[in-house]
Amino acid sequence: MAAFGTVFMPQMIQAHFTDNAWSESSVVPSDKIELHAGAHVLHYSSTCFEGLKAFRHEDGSVYIFRMDANIARMKQSSHLLSLPEVDGPMLEKMIIDIVRQYADETPLPPGSMYIRPTHIGTEAAIGKAAVPSLSSLLYVLLSPVGDYFAGGATALRVLLEEDGMRCAPHMGMIKSGGNYASALAPITAARIQHKADQILFCPGGDVQETGAANFILIDGNEIITKALDSTFLHGVTRSSILTIAKDLGMTVSERNFTVTELLERAAKPGTEAALSGTAAVLTPVGTFIHNDKEYKVGTGEAGPTTMRLRQVLNDIQWGKAQDKHGWLTKIDV
Ligand SMILES: *Cc1c(COP(=O)(O)O)cnc(C)c1O
Repeated sequence: MAAFGTVFMPQMIQAHFTDNAWSESSVVPSDKIELHAGAHVLHYSSTCFEGLKAFRHEDGSVYIFRMDANIARMKQSSHLLSLPEVDGPMLEKMIIDIVRQYADETPLPPGSMYIRPTHIGTEAAIGKAAVPSLSSLLYVLLSPVGDYFAGGATALRVLLEEDGMRCAPHMGMIKSGGNYASALAPITAARIQHKADQILFCPGGDVQETGAANFILIDGNEIITKALDSTFLHGVTRSSILTIAKDLGMTVSERNFTVTELLERAAKPGTEAALSGTAAVLTPVGTFIHNDKEYKVGTGEAGPTTMRLRQVLNDIQWGKAQDKHGWLTKIDV
């Protein structure tokens, strides 16, 4: 199977912002865009993106999951990066139009159609290091994805990093390209030195998130995750899992916690840890690596509560459980 995110639908939908207005959207080939070599995004990283999914139900109908949350975050990211303001209803229509065009190609569960809205500053102005781009391009790419867990949900090895940070603290809640580039060197070093799959960034001991997923700790009936602030990405999956946990009668604690508390709790039987995000839903964490020592989380394998929460979320996405929070948008074809 092709690696996640390497297969694209041949067309995408785009709109340009110039002279203080958005153009009509148009459907164009997805294998290239035309940019001036001096475009703002290429020099000063004026870029943000989103990741959401469309799912096919058993009767053939197609639904997009929590589109409004992703559009709201895209508007916020664009605003915080001083990119032109995103027109929410326009972006919603663009997403629906392109998903409808490829509705028939939406894979069946456990696959889905991954949707990648992207917004970049296009003004050719290399003198504008400290000035926003006046023009931009907004486009929506589609990538059919298969079963993330083909071969089973193997528990990850995660390095706890207290010294560095993933990105600048005021940038954490923005889904912006530069943040991922800034985390690459430490993640690559962790892979080589510790055979770690991911780094859990814990600046000054404060447990935050990994390079591209939120972190949750499960201790019996309690689910613990960092309270929202500007330093980390406010995941839609995180919010969905917390809502489902409350529905299931679990205690949800959104609060700050330290590496010391994390390691104390991890040692207890019945503790589970997981990474949450649109791509992988919930991925179990089996081992923490800290100061060259290894700590198993509970049994070191995928835990039952992690798998249950994942199943309940998947059941809603796949149309097998009632969508009582109104998270799905039906695409009329
Ligand atoms: C996208 C992302 C997440 C997960 O967000 P979802 O909305 O759940 O997909 C978490 N952390 C980072 C850094 C991310 O980029």
